[in-house]
Amino acid sequence: SIKENDEPERVPSSANKGRRKSVAPQENNKGNKRLSCLVKPPDVQTKRGKFGEASRPNQKFYEMIQEFRETLEITPVSASDLIEPHRICVCVRKRPLNKQGKEIDVVTIPGKGALLVHEPKHKVDLTKYLDNQVFHFDYSFDETATNELVYKFTAKPLVQSIFEGGMATCFAYGQTGSGKTHTMGGDFTGRQQNSAKGIYALAAQDVFTYLNHRRYAHLELSAYVSFFEIYNGKVYDLLNKKAKLRVLEDDRQQVQVVGLEEIYVSTAEDVIKMIEMGSACRTSGQTSANANSSRSHAILQIVLRCNDRASTLHGKFSLVDLAGNERGTDVSSNDRSTLVETAEINRSLLALKECIRSLGMNSDHIPFRMSTLTKVLRDSFIGEKSRTCMIAMVSPGMASCEYTMNTLRYADSVYDAISQVAELE
Ligand code: ADP
Ligand code: MG
Repeated sequence: SIKENDEPERVPSSANKGRRKSVAPQENNKGNKRLSCLVKPPDVQTKRGKFGEASRPNQKFYEMIQEFRETLEITPVSASDLIEPHRICVCVRKRPLNKQGKEIDVVTIPGKGALLVHEPKHKVDLTKYLDNQVFHFDYSFDETATNELVYKFTAKPLVQSIFEGGMATCFAYGQTGSGKTHTMGGDFTGRQQNSAKGIYALAAQDVFTYLNHRRYAHLELSAYVSFFEIYNGKVYDLLNKKAKLRVLEDDRQQVQVVGLEEIYVSTAEDVIKMIEMGSACRTSGQTSANANSSRSHAILQIVLRCNDRASTLHGKFSLVDLAGNERGTDVSSNDRSTLVETAEINRSLLALKECIRSLGMNSDHIPFRMSTLTKVLRDSFIGEKSRTCMIAMVSPGMASCEYTMNTLRYADSVYDAISQVAELE
């Protein structure tokens, strides 16, 4: 929980009292989402920080953020916390700062679903101040959280729903470099991907645990995997040499990706092989490592089918590594193809938000035709048994502040729509 600056118990130790004097919190802003914290220019610079003389402007912000943090109670999510079932769950994950960088961390996770962005700003008279903005989600994970912990609270509770005949979907949303692929596909150290530690593989492991469980044995189900990419509205099969596939909708509104490979899998290791094969395919033939993968959505599906003649679909888990949500503000690459790509990504992310909101409101009208992404995920947005989880990833560096705010506003608008419905019920 976040306490007010001027409450006595907020002062953690006498050692901080001296420095605290320079912090004058703005008044009359209680209850607001913004907690502005003004700092008078100091008369004397008492300390020389980590960033030395040359970077003193940011050093000041660094100190202000540190001071603010000292006033917070921090209780990060722990593995023993209660997992509450959500039909739609919205979370946020903060990645660590780059090790070698001298960047300032402007994001704080006090815990309990809260997240603070300390946006460095200047008043007209050039006084520096922090615009501290608070967001609330179902869960918020700080830079120390492992993929296993994130998985436990996000995708794991969704596995059961596919055995009960539902559709489960988990999205990784955020700016390029914020940790979407790390979270979904697993940690890349050097050029090697540890696929076993990503949400894809962790979900697969649990699917096989359930599949072998006596509770579901009578269903006689088998698991299959497909893995594809959507780039500029076109579908490419990552398990079949990036074959370009057509998306068709029949007169019963059933959407089909024609010819998509669906590979039978019997162990989590089988799935990991598919993840590695598909991930290698995704990044192959590209000049720079992240260039194209950041502009496409990757979708891994674990499909449960009945062992009957028609292989009837029973349930489906879609795990989606979304394209980077950064706007086309990079002037240096403002060529036509980039603009087309950006427009397509923006459209699909907007469509996604609208579809999740429709699901949350049990609406009959699902605007899934707005984009290829929402078309192929159409089943995810309908039905009583459908479950969705969105993990919004943020980079904590000061330079990413604007992108971080965009990501949080997007996640917040999904979360808002859902919590309004919950209040009405
Ligand atoms: P994205 O897919 O969103 O573009 P990546 O997953 O490729 O981002 O992450 C960018 C870099 O940051 C990678 O080198 C990745 O290993 C690292 N990274 C991301 N999230 C974390 C994390 N939680 N812990 C440690 N390293 C991370
Ligand atoms: Mg990525």
